[in-house]
Amino acid sequence: MPRLVVVSNRVADPRKTAAGGLAVALAEFLNSTGGVWFGWSGKVIEPAQGGRAGEGQLHTQQAGPVKLVTVDLSREDHDSFYTGYSNGVLWPVFHYRLDLADFDAGYIAGYRRVNQMFARKLQPLLRPDDIIWVHDYHLIPLAAELRALGCNHRIGFFLHIPLPPSLILAAIPGHDWLIRALFAYDLVGFQSRADLLHFSSYVESEAHAQNLGDNRWRAFNRTVQAGAFPIGIDVEEFQGLANAPEGRDMFERMRREYSRRKLLVGVDRLDYSKGLPQRIKAFRELLQRYPENHRSATLIQIASPSREDVSAYTDILHELESLCGSINGNYGELDWMPVRYMHRTVARVRLPGLYRASRVALVTPLRDGMNLVAKEFLAAQDPADPGVLVLSRFAGAAEQLKDALLVNPYDIENTANAIHLALQMPVEERRNRHASLMSVIREFDVHWWCDSFLERLAQAEAEETGTPWLRL
Ligand code: ADP
Repeated sequence: MPRLVVVSNRVADPRKTAAGGLAVALAEFLNSTGGVWFGWSGKVIEPAQGGRAGEGQLHTQQAGPVKLVTVDLSREDHDSFYTGYSNGVLWPVFHYRLDLADFDAGYIAGYRRVNQMFARKLQPLLRPDDIIWVHDYHLIPLAAELRALGCNHRIGFFLHIPLPPSLILAAIPGHDWLIRALFAYDLVGFQSRADLLHFSSYVESEAHAQNLGDNRWRAFNRTVQAGAFPIGIDVEEFQGLANAPEGRDMFERMRREYSRRKLLVGVDRLDYSKGLPQRIKAFRELLQRYPENHRSATLIQIASPSREDVSAYTDILHELESLCGSINGNYGELDWMPVRYMHRTVARVRLPGLYRASRVALVTPLRDGMNLVAKEFLAAQDPADPGVLVLSRFAGAAEQLKDALLVNPYDIENTANAIHLALQMPVEERRNRHASLMSVIREFDVHWWCDSFLERLAQAEAEETGTPWLRL
């Protein structure tokens, strides 16, 4: 079995239990094949510490049969590659938010520089029969940079965030360069069929790629295969957490505290893609339209801090605080606070208990690659008395989770109606919907995702590489 080399912006120690399902799944694979996990250390070297000269220092740590290799970034590279291009251009545009993109011309050079540096540092660590799996938007040109160094390994790429339609993508200066770089991979994976469709229409209309059928395209003297591989969770692991002492303790405490209420829960990273203000407005609309929910419906919204140095994030934080404050001010009673908003991260072991104590989950992003909270909520439920998932049709998960209550999060009134329906739903219907949703998340779990991607990558046609076809 060939050795697996995983490359992602951040690297997780697979032995730590705090690591999420993805880290666990990748670790399982890496453990069975032996392998390397390569990425940024999370450390930024300030100019006073040697500036660019200090960059690129490798740290190696052995975690069982897996070697974790990380590299530091200089302040300048971090600001242009990570904050600038990855999170200031690619993240907003890929989530359809052209209005929030900052197309500073200097960022792309830093993005390219860091990808080149990653390739230079990684290449000497490679063995001839390694399979390389690159993850996410930070590292789109990595395979092209590796190929330029003569690397002819099998290389796959998975995009964890959505791919927008051609005309949105085309707003990025240098979009042609970015998509051309995808042709250096043997297999490109997306979260949903919608993303795959956007890829096919872009490469055919903008790059004049030849459609070879079977999700294969030829352009720039290369053939790339693409596919939709919706990422899943480790259902057993998550259910294990629900039944572990911390999970049970959290469940009991929430049930006791809110015994006279119906809990609604939202758990997100604080990000403008998550539709948080729209969600809080829909909850306000619920209280306005359906007063029978007063003194009963209680929303717990947890938003973990994220990229707080970016102004779009602080704006949303203030908007949320003000919305929640005004709802509590207008509707609250001495013994009932309608919204509890917390700007924090909840320990992973406590999440299943919180989900299980909730009658409804509000997962209503404006756009999301997949959304794992939706799947975690389902896995944590008691099948005999399960909660209801209210899910945005714009989350990648909506392609799979058809038996959730699907909503358009921009439509506040209809979302409020769906929340009301969820709160009233009879147990029989809740059970039926939950059972059908569980069969989907069990079949397409994170192990399926890992296995099916790597199997397809192993079968992808080997091709002459390292040729001068791709001058980035
Ligand atoms: P994204 O990757 O955009 O943050 P996902 O829903 O796909 O969104 O994944 C988020 C992961 O982070 C889930 O496993 C979820 O449980 C976890 N998470 C999100 N918000 C919080 C929070 N406030 N506290 C603890 N864990 C969180």
